[in-house]
Amino acid sequence: MARIFNFSAGPSTLPLETLQEASDKLVDYENSGMSLIEMSHRGKQYDAVHSETVSLVKEVLEVPADYHVLLLQGGATLQFGMIPLAFLKSDMVADYILTGSWAKKAYDDGKAVGRVNVPWDGADEKYSRMPSQNELNLTPDAAYVHICSNETIGGIQFPQFPETGNVPLICDMSSEIMSRKLPWEKIDMVYAGSQKNLAPAGMALVIMKDDLLQKANKVLPAYLRYDLHAEKNSLYNTPPSFVVWMTCLTLRWIKSIGGIDGLIKRRDEKADMLYGMIEDSNGYYSNPVDKASRSPMNVVWRLPSEDLEKKFIDEAGKAGLSGLKGHRSVGGCRASIYNAMPVDGVKTLVDFMKTFMENNR
Ligand SMILES: *Cc1c(COP(=O)(O)O)cnc(C)c1O
Repeated sequence: MARIFNFSAGPSTLPLETLQEASDKLVDYENSGMSLIEMSHRGKQYDAVHSETVSLVKEVLEVPADYHVLLLQGGATLQFGMIPLAFLKSDMVADYILTGSWAKKAYDDGKAVGRVNVPWDGADEKYSRMPSQNELNLTPDAAYVHICSNETIGGIQFPQFPETGNVPLICDMSSEIMSRKLPWEKIDMVYAGSQKNLAPAGMALVIMKDDLLQKANKVLPAYLRYDLHAEKNSLYNTPPSFVVWMTCLTLRWIKSIGGIDGLIKRRDEKADMLYGMIEDSNGYYSNPVDKASRSPMNVVWRLPSEDLEKKFIDEAGKAGLSGLKGHRSVGGCRASIYNAMPVDGVKTLVDFMKTFMENNR
C-alpha cells in the first residue's frame, strides 16, 4: 500500500504502528480465538486494556493523583452539554471565552442550560488571536470558565492557559490533547474527542479534578452523571472498546517515541517548517493568525485567489497530500499536523508548496 499523507482535521491520521498492531490482532486477540471487540467488557482481557489506557493517560500527561480519567462516549460534543448540566446550577453563571467555532458551540450548549457570560469575544477580529489575561472580564464566582485551548478551524492556540483563581477552568483540548504539557495547578477539567490525536471517533477522554467532580449534579439521567462514570471507572455501561484499545496502542506509541517531550520536539519541527514556508513565500501564502496565537496542530493559509486555492488542493491531492481544504465556514487551506503526522509528511507538503508557487506565480 502506498500510504498517503492525510492532513484532515478529524477523523485524522493515526500512527501507522497503531493501525498495524490493531490490524494484526483484530481477528484473534492474543490467541483467545476471538476479537477483543467481540469480548465482554467485564472480562479479564478487556479489563487489562481499559486499565492500561487509563494509567498511560495519567503517566504520559503527568496527571496528579486527585484527578479522574474518564473514557466516555458522545465525543467532545456530548461534553458541551454534560458540562453545564453537571456544573451550571440555576443560581450561577458560567464564563465562556469565545475564540472560534468550537468555543461557540460549547457556549451555545451552556446557554441552552443556564446563565452564561462572555469574558472575551474574538469575533470582531475574525478569531485571529487568543486573548491575553488582562483582557478577560471574568465573573468572580462563576461556576466555571470554559475555553477551547486550540481552535481547530481558525488555527489558533492559547499559548498559556488563563488564570481563573478559584473558579474551575474547563478546557476543550480535542485538537491538541497529548501535544503539550499541562499546568495542572490551573486546570480542573480537560476533555477531547478521540478522533484527532488519539484514535478513531467515538469517545471523549475526560480528565477531571476530584474537587470539581464532587460538585457534579447527580439528578440527571445516568449517562450524564460524571460521578457515576468515575465511581464505575468508565464501565457503568458498555465502553467503546475498540476506541479504547486504539487509544491504548497510540499511547504506547507515544511512550516509545519519548512521551510528550518527544512529541513536542516533533510538533515544533513540523510547525516551524510549515509556518516558515508560509513566511518565506513573500505573501503568496498568507496566514491570517497573530503570531503568538499560532496553532502548532492546525495551520491555515490562503493563496492569492480562490481559483488558485482550488487548483492547489486538487494538485496536492494528486500528489498524495489529502485533506488540505480549509473548513467550509472559512475557506482557504488547512493542514492538520497532529501527533501522528510524520515529519516527512510536512516536508513533502512544504516541497509541494514551493513547486506550486514557482509554477503558479
Ligand atoms: C472536533 C472538535 C470537536 C467535536 O468533536 P466531536 O468528537 O465530533 O464531538 C470539539 N471541539 C474541538 C476543538 C474539535 O476540534
